[in-house]
Amino acid sequence: MAKICPLCNKIKDTDAKCKDCGSLMINMGRVQDYSDPYGPQDPINDADNYCIHLFKCENCGITESSKVYKINI
Ligand SMILES: [Zn+2]
Ligand SMILES: [Zn+2]
Repeated sequence: MAKICPLCNKIKDTDAKCKDCGSLMINMGRVQDYSDPYGPQDPINDADNYCIHLFKCENCGITESSKVYKINI
């Protein structure tokens, strides 16, 4: 059995909601694909149980990262 991220593998769409306006946020991809050359960041390792994605609210324009738990296939 393998654990995969449902968003990276396009199995399901995000259901992340904007905490400001409640709109559905769009998945921008994995946070490690947007590594910031400025400023310290937590070391990113591909965690066993989750994948960290960046979500964006098109309504407010805010972005937020959150954990997406992997599922067993
Ligand atoms: Zn993922
Ligand atoms: Zn919003």
